[in-house]
Amino acid sequence: MRIATYSHQGRRQVGQVSADGQQVTPFDLSPQQARLGAQALIEAQVAGQPLPPLAGSPVAVSAVRLEAPLPVPRRNVWCVGRNYHAHAKELASSVFKASNADPQAWPIVFTKVPECVVGPTDDVRLPGAAISDQIDYEAELTIVIGRGGRNIRREDALSHVWGWTIVNDVTARDVQMRHSQWDLGKSFDTFCPMGPWIVTADELDGTNTRVRGWVNGQLRQDARTTDLIFDIATLIETCSRGITLYPGDIIATGTPAGVGMGLNPPQYLKAGDVVRVEIEGIGAIENRFV
Ligand code: MG
Repeated sequence: MRIATYSHQGRRQVGQVSADGQQVTPFDLSPQQARLGAQALIEAQVAGQPLPPLAGSPVAVSAVRLEAPLPVPRRNVWCVGRNYHAHAKELASSVFKASNADPQAWPIVFTKVPECVVGPTDDVRLPGAAISDQIDYEAELTIVIGRGGRNIRREDALSHVWGWTIVNDVTARDVQMRHSQWDLGKSFDTFCPMGPWIVTADELDGTNTRVRGWVNGQLRQDARTTDLIFDIATLIETCSRGITLYPGDIIATGTPAGVGMGLNPPQYLKAGDVVRVEIEGIGAIENRFV
């Protein structure tokens, strides 16, 4: 099932997208429930309740404005750094130059503030050269947690996945590198495009999925999740060690090689650039930088 959050005729709705991705039918949710997007559906299912009934006729996806499936995450978006073997190699000469840390030891985990989430076709605002002139893209397969838990065991972890979506983990490299912690350089307003919807876990398991990223039509990133250093189950186990995960929590699993910083010379984003991220089995998001 594909679950989209969208605005139509001035109202935020949550709907089921048809298998061909062309139409969406709204669920019967109150405006208060719809405010948090797919969150109400996730919580209902986790509580053992049926999904709310569909209400109304299907409308064309092209006639609505898709929003992030979780437009108001209840807390920070978890993100994993340096988690593809090929990407770890390309970073060895830049951001991790001074680090001799063993990439196999533990995952790098940081967060983005929830307020930086925007929709799958929304503009991303460059902050201005005085703040950063090294804005970069990161195509990422992203976990949406269903049943929560603490100290989730690796072997149980996939049963906690409600579904999957796409995130572009937009990053200000100069700010990321200036501070030991990455959150500032990852959390600028609009720096977390998400969507176009959630594909539920019964349709995709994420373990062997193609992740691609383009800048202005040029393919920059192309990998499969089989190249992950820390797999999906390990990431859920790690993020829940001593910390309770809740339904609707979001974990972006890291980006493949081919980011702008890894090019020689590096190529950062400028106004007018369009970044597209496509993941097999989910769909695509495409955002203009302004
Ligand atoms: Mg990232």
